[in-house]
Amino acid sequence: MMTGKQYKASLKDGRRVYYDGQLIEDCATHPSLASAADTVESTYDHYYKPGADALSDYMSVPRSVEALRTHMVKHSDMLTEITFASTMTLLTAGDRIAKIRPQGRENIQAFVRHVQKNDLRMTECITDAKGDRSKPPAKQDDRDAYLRVIERRSDGVVVRGAKLHISLAPLGHELMTIPTKAMKPDEQEYAIAFSVPVNTPGVKIINVGKPPLSKDTRDFPVTSQMFISQGFVIYDDVFVPNERIFLDGEAEQAAVFAHSLGLWTRALGLARMADEADMMAGLAQLVAEANCLEKVSHIKDKIADMVIHATLIRATLEASFANSKLSPDGVPVPDELYTNAGKYLGASNYVLIVRNLMDIAGGSGLTVPSMLDLENPDTGNLLRKYMATKSSVDGEYRMRLLQTVRDLTATSNGGYRVNANLLGGGGLFAQRVVTRGRYDMERAKRLALKVAGLEKPASA
Ligand SMILES: Cc1cc2nc3c(=O)[nH]c(=O)nc-3n(C[C@H](O)[C@H](O)[C@H](O)COP(=O)(O)OP(=O)(O)OC[C@H]3O[C@@H](n4cnc5c(N)ncnc54)[C@H](O)[C@@H]3O)c2cc1C
Repeated sequence: MMTGKQYKASLKDGRRVYYDGQLIEDCATHPSLASAADTVESTYDHYYKPGADALSDYMSVPRSVEALRTHMVKHSDMLTEITFASTMTLLTAGDRIAKIRPQGRENIQAFVRHVQKNDLRMTECITDAKGDRSKPPAKQDDRDAYLRVIERRSDGVVVRGAKLHISLAPLGHELMTIPTKAMKPDEQEYAIAFSVPVNTPGVKIINVGKPPLSKDTRDFPVTSQMFISQGFVIYDDVFVPNERIFLDGEAEQAAVFAHSLGLWTRALGLARMADEADMMAGLAQLVAEANCLEKVSHIKDKIADMVIHATLIRATLEASFANSKLSPDGVPVPDELYTNAGKYLGASNYVLIVRNLMDIAGGSGLTVPSMLDLENPDTGNLLRKYMATKSSVDGEYRMRLLQTVRDLTATSNGGYRVNANLLGGGGLFAQRVVTRGRYDMERAKRLALKVAGLEKPASA
């Protein structure tokens, strides 16, 4: 296993990562990546065990529902969670493609062992550039709009394309790359799933995202703990050796990977959403108390809405564990209906929760002065005086709460969160499709027929 320090050193492997037009020399210390790299480093140190055969507890595959539950609610850093989701995606997909492509499953299993043994981190590269959204891959003006195989060799394939919005791509070791959707029989060149190291020749990553302007963590209590950036990953004719290919040409199986990834990413997203929703309800209550308005009915109503939202998100998360099913390999897989319905609920209501928090906090939830202004002898005591609400609520305490509201809702991080909740793990439409598909509509229709006093539905 690697220590945190070894992890950071491992990123200096010649990878081509760019930011604002410049090649990044060291991803571990670059301002757009450093806080995320620090959190990954601490996870490495937390789980580190000496010895050549030691395996990270976090990276182990859960074998019971209880282990799955513990795993999903035990948050680690975002990259480590993405690696876990990628591992589970591959194992789930491997089971499903085994009949059609047994070699793919074997390659997946060998690759997962390699990742576990070497304590590596991987990122999920699925979203293509997509070009004209109304046309399928094979009908695009530029056929590279979806990543595809452009050359076949006896020892592997050469791929070309781009995967966009890849969370923390510059900080992982491996780019787990899979088709973004189902492919048609004439789209075999797009039915390609594989993994390559980030420093593979031809891979270029443009890192995107603006870190907070101030380094004062009190002004950015949320973002400073971890700022997440996304990589625009370009595969500029990249060679993939045979042993790293999981799927190649089996168009009818292309959607299996996206489907598995959607489930695991949304399940982990739901676990994060559940904690975030509780935290935001708690923050709203603390701000209301600091503003001395916690007994006012419209404030209580808004907090009650936030509490109900948080409770329903957690209920769907628990239902996804309780209804999980064992894969052929004995791995519990969260229930798709509850996972997707929960993720949809969390994503679609997030802006309403933000609205309530902003409303309760008032304008200072945006315009609260910085902590350096508080420390300035010219202004500090005046800020303390005017930001206090009563003798037991001092100005600094209230300012710290309001900084948290601002960082969560009104900074560039606030905008990031709205977008990430909505689109991370696929947009609302994707969750609607899966929820509708997994819902027992026949049972629902039977119930309705019974109430209507009818025996069976009219034939369509
Ligand atoms: C913060 C963040 C993190 C992310 N992390 C990752 C990651 O780690 N890995 C990864 O692979 N992806 C990641 N994504 C990408 C995410 O999964 C996509 O943004 C999402 O699936 C939507 O795809 P898109 O952005 O290409 O939007 P588009 O596909 O352009 O969609 C825009 C809108 O058009 C609609 N639309 C598109 N095509 C059609 C059509 N043919 N018919 C009808 N409606 C259509 C969509 O439903 C949506 O409403 C991330 C995104 C964000 C914002």
